[in-house]
Amino acid sequence: MDKPIIAFIGLGQMGTPMALNLLKAGYIVHGYDKDTKLAEHFSGISHFTWSATAVDAVLAASVVVLMLPDSPIVDALLWDGDQAISKILKPGNLLIDMGSSDPMHSRNNAAKLKALGIGFIDAPVSGGVKRAQAGTLAIMVGGAQDWTEVALPVLTALGQTLTHVGSEGAGHAVKALNNYVSAAGLLAVSEALSSAVKFGIDPHLVNQVFNASTAKNNTTENKVEAFMLSAAFNSGFALSLMKKDLETAHRFMEQVESASQFSAKCLEIWQAGDQSLGKGADHTQMYEFVKNQSAD
Ligand code: NAD
Repeated sequence: MDKPIIAFIGLGQMGTPMALNLLKAGYIVHGYDKDTKLAEHFSGISHFTWSATAVDAVLAASVVVLMLPDSPIVDALLWDGDQAISKILKPGNLLIDMGSSDPMHSRNNAAKLKALGIGFIDAPVSGGVKRAQAGTLAIMVGGAQDWTEVALPVLTALGQTLTHVGSEGAGHAVKALNNYVSAAGLLAVSEALSSAVKFGIDPHLVNQVFNASTAKNNTTENKVEAFMLSAAFNSGFALSLMKKDLETAHRFMEQVESASQFSAKCLEIWQAGDQSLGKGADHTQMYEFVKNQSAD
């Protein structure tokens, strides 16, 4: 079967390498981002068209991939005003929301699109910019089996571990919970390293011990040396986006009436970090925030 034309909306830190991997896999991609500067990443690349609007990108496509910051942006793009892309999508088209959106919004979007004959799956990703570039993302999929099968070749071009976790919204729920666990781990590691430094212990040695012991986690393995102790703070994942994911996870736990005392405290600390470090901070700068707090 011919490959579908893909509209790719949201070509930021993650979207650009993902769209490039789709092009490498032989897809025709019509891309759109409100930040026109990003077009330079695609200059001279064949089978790619930079679209002037989201509507233009979607016109000729049968599969639409969204890699946008959050649910309010996704919802507005889908439903608001004359430029709503739901007005352009045709029955039989498929929308894949790969950003870290809110599971309840995704369920709602899936139901509204279904009424129009349009498929929806949520397929958020984990692995960061490095794995987006390598095409080895972990992808958690929520949605109907038949639409998941349609999406499979597209997702295979982007990721290595694909797990169908349930119905529409389930992928976004698992993603929010994943980032809650990941953020809690980063916070614990930051507090542990700051405390060790105050006692005069070399934090590099502490992290080395953690990685040989039961404290090992994604932060100790992939972030402490590369982004935190080096003070590079350039992981490519914004602090504001991690805070948004924690808000989603906490809200989700409340919605399903699950105990959430620890997530409430974790969220509170990340919100304080976001407030203090300001716009543009990388999420690994939480280490700096924690260190400065404990220096008070
Ligand atoms: P980013 O801010 O780099 O990219 C988002 C892009 O969306 C920007 O280029 C922005 O201009 C564009 N955008 C915003 N509103 C738009 C609109 N209405 N129309 C068109 N374009 C619009 O963010 P990112 O790091 O690429 O993350 C994207 C999503 O993936 C987020 O939901 C994030 O939580 C998730 N995510 C990020 C990472 C990471 O490591 N960066 C990892 C996993 C998941």
